[in-house]
Amino acid sequence: MAEFPERVRIREVGPRDGFQNEPETIPTDEKVRLIDLLSASGVTRMEVTSFVRPDVIPQLADAAEVLMAVQRRPGVSFSVLIPNLRGLERALQLRDRFDEVSVFLSASETHNQRNVNRSIAESLAGLEETLAQAGEEGLRREGVISTSFGCPYEGEVPPERVFEIAERLVAAGCDEVAFGDTTGMANPRQVGEFFAAARKRLAGVELTAHFHNTRGQGLANVLAALEQGVDSFEASFGELGGCPVPPGSTGNVSSEDVVSMLHEMGIETGIDLGKLLAASRTAQEVLGRPLGAHVLRAGPVDWAPDTGG
Ligand code: ZN
Repeated sequence: MAEFPERVRIREVGPRDGFQNEPETIPTDEKVRLIDLLSASGVTRMEVTSFVRPDVIPQLADAAEVLMAVQRRPGVSFSVLIPNLRGLERALQLRDRFDEVSVFLSASETHNQRNVNRSIAESLAGLEETLAQAGEEGLRREGVISTSFGCPYEGEVPPERVFEIAERLVAAGCDEVAFGDTTGMANPRQVGEFFAAARKRLAGVELTAHFHNTRGQGLANVLAALEQGVDSFEASFGELGGCPVPPGSTGNVSSEDVVSMLHEMGIETGIDLGKLLAASRTAQEVLGRPLGAHVLRAGPVDWAPDTGG
């Protein structure tokens, strides 16, 4: 029998991964309202925005306004996604409004080139500088490796290459490394083998799994990671977010589906599922469309022994 962790940390990434992938820009005050609802749900980690260039991702051009306006609650750690040193400098003007930074690159050359217009080596060199500066500011540092389980342009991505990049990020100061299944190519067997190897190779580093439900395998992949002792996940409320390629694809594994599964398995998250669902229902109102999370549609597991039916 697998040794499941007793408790799992979930970083809510909807306000970044989700809002950034919406075709329309969500008004700042609505973003703030949703982030505050998520903070109140017991989420302990949240990626609230990104300091990418506003002309590249206009949906998050209000990063500073959002950070200024959201409620700071004790026990909720805010992170911001940072593309480079310039992005970090912009974020640092609001240093007291967040606790962590996330930097990112891809494990595949083609994806990295298309995403940030740099080679992996160039990305790493830039990120080392960025991470050093973030460390001087006392910020916790997460490195996110996209396309860790497969690349839509190159196909298979050798785990060895992913681990080498992870080691570079750790050497540059990352406290945590997240492995992203950016376009939903991972399968549970691959995920199990990957994290079994990663735990040996990267002993002592917090390993985080970031799955997308593009092909309906998100929860199966969460389970496969749990079985290898992974106790840190990223998910997005409502199932917002993720790369909508091909068009119409679903995004990140949904926070409520992950939380519901974990709670039913007897694994704690500290999150109040009812409050999380309330945040997702509000997001549906704001966006004017139903969102994809299963538990949002079906409701939580309701155990009612006396109904006789
Ligand atoms: Zn994602």
